[in-house]
Amino acid sequence: MQKQFILIFGPQGSGKSTQAKLLAHKLGYKHVSTGELLRSLRDKKDPNGLELSKYWTKGDLVPDQLIEDILFKVFEKDTSQGIILDGYPRNINQLNSFLSKAEIHNWYIDKAFYLIVGEKECVKRISKRVGIENRVDENEEAIKRRLNIYYKSTEPLIAEFEKMGVLERIDGEQTVEEVHRDLYNHFPNDSS
Ligand code: ADP
Repeated sequence: MQKQFILIFGPQGSGKSTQAKLLAHKLGYKHVSTGELLRSLRDKKDPNGLELSKYWTKGDLVPDQLIEDILFKVFEKDTSQGIILDGYPRNINQLNSFLSKAEIHNWYIDKAFYLIVGEKECVKRISKRVGIENRVDENEEAIKRRLNIYYKSTEPLIAEFEKMGVLERIDGEQTVEEVHRDLYNHFPNDSS
């Protein structure tokens, strides 16, 4: 069966997860957040998950192969028509392995939404949620590392998505409702 993938990416604090959830709900698709997946594996005391938490709690990426072993199983098991994916791919290697896997399984990237939010606004939003969400990777050091990795490894994907013809730029500095409206406007034929 053909499976549609909608990617949402942007810097830390850009609102990816919030928007991915809203869009998945509206379209009736499955939402997969790699960050949530990693946090829940650790909370369940899954041995793999505990091992992986050594990386992400410091703000480093977990090794590509390890996140993909987990993720590809989730994708393969899922029976929904589409997946809203937040947090993957995060670098060129991950994009390439996704694309080879996609070829075998008849998966395709329908859209890659890039939420544009300036660095100042991102830092402001992250500081606001510290203390509310209590994420271990939201201390100053880990946030700095995550933002650095984002600009160095994830932003170069913009050009790749552009070449593939799937890139959609969205102004992420608007209200949650306005950003959601802009995303949903890209699905004019949705009847849900
Ligand atoms: P954010 O996007 O704000 O960094 P996430 O909740 O998406 O937050 O991710 C939290 C952490 O999980 C990341 O900092 C990283 O360590 C790890 N992670 C998430 N997705 C990936 C991925 N695709 N590859 C490697 N590590 C990942």
